[in-house]
Amino acid sequence: MEAWIKSIFFAVAVVAATIAVAADKPATKQAVKPGAACETQNAKSCQDAMTPKMIMERFKSGNERFTSGKSTQRNYIQQVKATAAGQFPLASVVSCIDSRAPAEIVFDQGIGDLFNARVAGNIVNEDILGSLEFASRIEGAKLIIVLGHTSCGAIKGACDDAKLGNLTALLSKIKPAVAAVPNDGKDRSSKNDAFVNMVAERNVRMTVQAIRDKSPVLKEMEQKGEIMIVGAMYDIKTGKVAWYSEAPAAAKKI
Ligand SMILES: [Zn+2]
Repeated sequence: MEAWIKSIFFAVAVVAATIAVAADKPATKQAVKPGAACETQNAKSCQDAMTPKMIMERFKSGNERFTSGKSTQRNYIQQVKATAAGQFPLASVVSCIDSRAPAEIVFDQGIGDLFNARVAGNIVNEDILGSLEFASRIEGAKLIIVLGHTSCGAIKGACDDAKLGNLTALLSKIKPAVAAVPNDGKDRSSKNDAFVNMVAERNVRMTVQAIRDKSPVLKEMEQKGEIMIVGAMYDIKTGKVAWYSEAPAAAKKI
Protein backbone atom coordinates (compact mmCIF):
# COMPACT_ATOMS: atom_id res chain seq x y z
CA MET A 1 0.00 0.00 0.00
CA GLU A 2 1.18 3.46 -0.83
CA ALA A 3 2.45 5.43 2.15
CA TRP A 4 -0.03 8.28 1.62
CA ILE A 5 -2.96 5.85 1.55
CA LYS A 6 -1.70 4.27 4.77
CA SER A 7 -1.54 7.63 6.48
CA ILE A 8 -5.10 8.45 5.43
CA PHE A 9 -6.29 5.10 6.81
CA PHE A 10 -4.40 5.81 10.04
CA ALA A 11 -5.90 9.30 10.34
CA VAL A 12 -9.42 7.95 9.77
CA ALA A 13 -8.86 5.21 12.36
CA VAL A 14 -7.63 7.73 14.96
CA VAL A 15 -10.64 10.00 14.37
CA ALA A 16 -13.03 7.04 14.57
CA ALA A 17 -11.43 5.80 17.79
CA THR A 18 -11.57 9.27 19.32
CA ILE A 19 -15.25 9.62 18.47
CA ALA A 20 -15.98 6.14 19.89
CA VAL A 21 -14.22 6.96 23.16
CA ALA A 22 -15.95 10.32 23.38
CA ALA A 23 -19.35 8.69 22.86
CA ASP A 24 -18.83 5.96 25.48
CA LYS A 25 -16.85 7.64 28.20
CA PRO A 26 -16.74 11.37 27.81
CA ALA A 27 -14.75 12.42 30.86
CA THR A 28 -12.77 9.53 32.24
CA LYS A 29 -10.38 8.91 29.38
CA GLN A 30 -9.08 12.40 29.88
CA ALA A 31 -6.93 13.52 32.75
CA VAL A 32 -8.91 13.87 35.98
CA LYS A 33 -8.06 16.85 38.15
CA PRO A 34 -6.77 16.00 41.67
CA GLY A 35 -9.74 15.69 43.99
CA ALA A 36 -12.28 15.55 41.19
CA ALA A 37 -14.70 12.67 41.54
CA CYS A 38 -15.55 10.56 38.51
CA GLU A 39 -19.22 9.75 38.16
CA THR A 40 -18.19 6.18 37.39
CA GLN A 41 -14.81 4.71 38.36
CA ASN A 42 -13.88 3.50 34.90
CA ALA A 43 -10.31 4.75 34.48
CA LYS A 44 -7.08 4.64 36.46
CA SER A 45 -7.00 8.43 36.29
CA CYS A 46 -10.14 8.40 38.49
CA GLN A 47 -8.24 6.49 41.20
CA ASP A 48 -5.09 8.55 40.77
CA ALA A 49 -7.01 11.79 41.33
CA MET A 50 -8.10 10.78 44.84
CA THR A 51 -6.10 10.49 48.07
CA PRO A 52 -7.28 8.15 50.86
CA LYS A 53 -8.49 11.19 52.79
CA MET A 54 -10.48 12.50 49.83
CA ILE A 55 -12.09 9.09 49.41
CA MET A 56 -13.12 9.12 53.05
CA GLU A 57 -14.69 12.57 52.55
CA ARG A 58 -16.51 11.21 49.49
CA PHE A 59 -17.94 8.35 51.55
CA LYS A 60 -18.87 10.73 54.38
CA SER A 61 -20.81 13.00 52.06
CA GLY A 62 -22.37 9.94 50.41
CA ASN A 63 -23.74 8.87 53.79
CA GLU A 64 -25.02 12.40 54.40
CA ARG A 65 -26.90 12.28 51.08
CA PHE A 66 -28.29 8.87 52.04
CA THR A 67 -29.53 9.97 55.47
CA SER A 68 -31.09 13.13 54.07
CA GLY A 69 -32.97 11.17 51.40
CA LYS A 70 -30.97 12.73 48.58
CA SER A 71 -29.10 9.71 47.24
CA THR A 72 -27.74 10.07 43.71
CA GLN A 73 -29.95 8.79 40.92
CA ARG A 74 -27.75 6.30 39.10
CA ASN A 75 -28.14 4.56 35.79
CA TYR A 76 -26.77 1.20 36.93
CA ILE A 77 -26.85 -0.50 33.56
CA GLN A 78 -24.86 2.40 32.13
CA GLN A 79 -22.34 1.92 34.96
CA VAL A 80 -22.22 -1.81 34.18
CA LYS A 81 -21.25 -1.03 30.60
CA ALA A 82 -18.81 1.71 31.59
CA THR A 83 -16.93 -0.60 34.00
CA ALA A 84 -16.96 -3.77 31.89
CA ALA A 85 -13.45 -3.24 30.57
CA GLY A 86 -11.83 -2.85 33.99
CA GLN A 87 -12.34 -1.83 37.61
CA PHE A 88 -10.77 1.07 39.47
CA PRO A 89 -12.52 1.10 42.88
CA LEU A 90 -11.75 3.62 45.59
CA ALA A 91 -12.27 1.59 48.76
CA SER A 92 -12.92 -1.73 50.45
CA VAL A 93 -15.63 -2.08 53.05
CA VAL A 94 -15.50 -4.91 55.58
CA SER A 95 -19.00 -5.11 56.97
CA CYS A 96 -21.54 -7.48 58.47
CA ILE A 97 -23.86 -9.64 56.37
CA ASP A 98 -26.81 -7.91 58.10
CA SER A 99 -29.53 -7.21 55.55
CA ARG A 100 -29.92 -3.66 56.86
CA ALA A 101 -26.35 -2.54 56.21
CA PRO A 102 -25.60 -2.64 52.45
CA ALA A 103 -22.42 -0.64 51.88
CA GLU A 104 -23.14 0.82 48.44
CA ILE A 105 -26.53 2.11 49.56
CA VAL A 106 -25.52 3.58 52.92
CA PHE A 107 -22.50 5.33 51.38
CA ASP A 108 -24.44 6.28 48.21
CA GLN A 109 -21.90 4.76 45.85
CA GLY A 110 -22.38 3.00 42.54
CA ILE A 111 -21.17 0.01 40.57
CA GLY A 112 -17.38 -0.14 40.39
CA ASP A 113 -16.85 2.19 43.36
CA LEU A 114 -15.99 -0.23 46.15
CA PHE A 115 -15.07 -3.75 47.17
CA ASN A 116 -17.32 -5.52 49.65
CA ALA A 117 -16.18 -8.09 52.19
CA ARG A 118 -19.22 -9.13 54.19
CA VAL A 119 -19.10 -11.57 57.05
CA ALA A 120 -21.20 -11.82 60.20
CA GLY A 121 -19.65 -9.57 62.84
CA ASN A 122 -17.25 -7.88 60.36
CA ILE A 123 -14.20 -9.81 61.51
CA VAL A 124 -11.18 -10.62 59.40
CA ASN A 125 -9.60 -13.98 58.68
CA GLU A 126 -6.95 -15.10 56.22
CA ASP A 127 -9.38 -15.10 53.31
CA ILE A 128 -10.70 -11.63 53.97
CA LEU A 129 -7.21 -10.26 54.53
CA GLY A 130 -6.20 -11.80 51.22
CA SER A 131 -9.18 -10.15 49.58
CA LEU A 132 -8.23 -6.78 51.05
CA GLU A 133 -4.63 -7.19 49.90
CA PHE A 134 -5.89 -7.95 46.39
CA ALA A 135 -8.20 -4.92 46.50
CA SER A 136 -5.50 -2.47 47.63
CA ARG A 137 -2.24 -3.83 46.30
CA ILE A 138 -3.43 -5.21 42.98
CA GLU A 139 -6.53 -3.15 42.19
CA GLY A 140 -5.57 0.15 43.78
CA ALA A 141 -8.30 0.72 46.42
CA LYS A 142 -6.92 3.34 48.82
CA LEU A 143 -9.28 3.21 51.78
CA ILE A 144 -10.30 0.26 53.98
CA ILE A 145 -13.39 0.84 56.08
CA VAL A 146 -14.28 -1.63 58.81
CA LEU A 147 -17.99 -0.98 59.24
CA GLY A 148 -19.77 -2.37 62.27
CA HIS A 149 -23.42 -1.76 63.01
CA THR A 150 -25.66 -1.33 66.01
CA SER A 151 -27.85 -4.20 67.26
CA CYS A 152 -25.62 -6.74 65.51
CA GLY A 153 -26.87 -10.33 65.84
CA ALA A 154 -23.36 -11.76 65.63
CA ILE A 155 -22.18 -9.49 68.46
CA LYS A 156 -25.22 -10.50 70.50
CA GLY A 157 -24.42 -14.16 69.88
CA ALA A 158 -20.85 -13.64 71.10
CA CYS A 159 -22.10 -11.82 74.21
CA ASP A 160 -24.43 -14.74 75.00
CA ASP A 161 -21.86 -17.42 74.15
CA ALA A 162 -24.23 -18.88 71.55
CA LYS A 163 -23.31 -22.17 69.93
CA LEU A 164 -24.47 -23.32 66.48
CA GLY A 165 -22.63 -25.37 63.90
CA ASN A 166 -19.91 -23.37 62.16
CA LEU A 167 -21.17 -20.16 63.74
CA THR A 168 -19.49 -21.16 67.03
CA ALA A 169 -16.02 -20.75 65.49
CA LEU A 170 -16.97 -17.41 63.91
CA LEU A 171 -18.32 -16.04 67.21
CA SER A 172 -15.09 -17.08 68.96
CA LYS A 173 -13.37 -14.41 66.85
CA ILE A 174 -15.66 -11.74 68.37
CA LYS A 175 -15.27 -12.88 71.97
CA PRO A 176 -12.03 -10.96 72.61
CA ALA A 177 -14.07 -7.79 71.98
CA VAL A 178 -16.65 -8.91 74.54
CA ALA A 179 -13.91 -9.50 77.10
CA ALA A 180 -12.28 -6.15 76.29
CA VAL A 181 -15.30 -4.09 77.40
CA PRO A 182 -14.70 -3.24 81.09
CA ASN A 183 -17.10 -4.81 83.55
CA ASP A 184 -19.16 -2.04 85.14
CA GLY A 185 -21.42 -4.46 86.99
CA LYS A 186 -24.23 -4.10 84.47
CA ASP A 187 -25.80 -6.83 82.35
CA ARG A 188 -23.30 -8.23 79.82
CA SER A 189 -25.82 -10.15 77.76
CA SER A 190 -27.59 -9.38 74.47
CA LYS A 191 -30.46 -7.93 76.49
CA ASN A 192 -28.34 -4.86 77.26
CA ASP A 193 -28.33 -2.78 74.04
CA ALA A 194 -25.71 -0.36 75.36
CA PHE A 195 -23.34 -3.23 76.17
CA VAL A 196 -23.93 -4.86 72.77
CA ASN A 197 -23.07 -1.59 71.01
CA MET A 198 -19.95 -1.10 73.15
CA VAL A 199 -18.78 -4.57 72.14
CA ALA A 200 -19.57 -3.74 68.50
CA GLU A 201 -17.39 -0.63 68.69
CA ARG A 202 -14.56 -2.54 70.37
CA ASN A 203 -14.87 -5.24 67.74
CA VAL A 204 -14.49 -2.68 64.93
CA ARG A 205 -11.39 -1.18 66.54
CA MET A 206 -9.89 -4.62 67.11
CA THR A 207 -10.60 -5.60 63.50
CA VAL A 208 -8.82 -2.45 62.29
CA GLN A 209 -5.86 -3.41 64.45
CA ALA A 210 -6.01 -7.05 63.29
CA ILE A 211 -5.67 -5.89 59.68
CA ARG A 212 -2.46 -4.05 60.59
CA ASP A 213 -1.13 -6.90 62.72
CA LYS A 214 -1.91 -9.76 60.35
CA SER A 215 -1.24 -8.13 57.00
CA PRO A 216 2.31 -6.80 56.61
CA VAL A 217 1.32 -5.90 53.03
CA LEU A 218 -1.44 -3.53 54.13
CA LYS A 219 0.50 -2.25 57.15
CA GLU A 220 3.33 -1.20 54.89
CA MET A 221 0.95 0.49 52.45
CA GLU A 222 -0.64 2.40 55.34
CA GLN A 223 2.73 3.46 56.73
CA LYS A 224 3.70 4.79 53.31
CA GLY A 225 0.44 6.76 53.16
CA GLU A 226 -0.79 4.79 50.15
CA ILE A 227 -3.89 3.61 51.99
CA MET A 228 -5.87 4.42 55.12
CA ILE A 229 -7.58 1.90 57.39
CA VAL A 230 -10.49 3.31 59.39
CA GLY A 231 -13.27 2.06 61.63
CA ALA A 232 -16.88 3.20 61.51
CA MET A 233 -20.26 2.29 62.95
CA TYR A 234 -23.57 2.20 61.09
CA ASP A 235 -26.66 3.02 63.12
CA ILE A 236 -29.53 0.84 61.93
CA LYS A 237 -32.05 3.27 63.46
CA THR A 238 -30.88 6.44 61.71
CA GLY A 239 -28.81 5.29 58.73
CA LYS A 240 -25.90 7.40 59.99
CA VAL A 241 -22.28 6.28 59.90
CA ALA A 242 -20.08 7.43 62.80
CA TRP A 243 -16.34 7.44 62.02
CA TYR A 244 -13.96 6.43 64.78
CA SER A 245 -10.60 7.61 63.71
CA GLU A 246 -8.45 8.39 60.73
CA ALA A 247 -5.16 8.22 62.57
CA PRO A 248 -3.47 4.84 62.95
CA ALA A 249 -2.05 5.85 66.34
CA ALA A 250 -5.47 6.65 67.76
CA ALA A 251 -7.00 3.51 66.35
CA LYS A 252 -4.40 1.48 68.18
CA LYS A 253 -5.84 2.58 71.52
CA ILE A 254 -8.35 -0.22 71.87
ZN1 LIG B 1 -24.30 -7.80 62.20
